[in-house]
Amino acid sequence: MNKKITIKNSGEKISINKIVCVGRNYVEHIHELGNEIPEKPVVFLKPNSSVIFNGDEIVYPSYSQDMHHEVELLLLIGQTIKNANLQQAENAIIGYGLGLDMTLRDVQNEMKKKGYPWTKAKCFDTSAVISDFILKKDYTLTLEEELLLKVNDEVRQKDKLNKMIFKPAEIVAYLSSIMTLEYGDIIFTGTPQGVSKVNQGDRLFAALDDLITLECRVI
Ligand code: MG
Repeated sequence: MNKKITIKNSGEKISINKIVCVGRNYVEHIHELGNEIPEKPVVFLKPNSSVIFNGDEIVYPSYSQDMHHEVELLLLIGQTIKNANLQQAENAIIGYGLGLDMTLRDVQNEMKKKGYPWTKAKCFDTSAVISDFILKKDYTLTLEEELLLKVNDEVRQKDKLNKMIFKPAEIVAYLSSIMTLEYGDIIFTGTPQGVSKVNQGDRLFAALDDLITLECRVI
């Protein structure tokens, strides 16, 4: 089913085209999981069926005992680009949002060991929690903004966007060298340190300064 994001100020709806995610984009998070710093962003996809929105419920899959929250800045793509340079990539970003890349860490570790794709750990239903978006024409991102994630009012992740290894235009330019990016594509830009396990009944609250917030419950 074609799901739609909402633009915060206008209420305009935009259909989600595809969802592209990068991993390992904050140094301390790479270290906390014992991974190596990549020369290029690590890329994976999430299906449309994985998307839920503010206020919806995250459903714990029966085949995992270790689901983690990963709070991330989201980029909204507004035009078709392929092999874009940095300026073209920057121009193609039309908005910003907040997302939770819910990840089954136990399953992901198993897949990593075997050299298998992360699909089972990253693409399950409710694994992509997506906020409303603010448009770039209404707000200029400085990367001084801070990502925040609380579980039951306890702060777990809190870091400035300027800690990203690959910045938004670099991510978009790189992704466009792999696949054509189009209107309605959403990019997950990686998570800072502090990822941790969630349990059924937990309440998650995410914020990008006071610009955007996102709340949901795990069931
Ligand atoms: Mg992530």
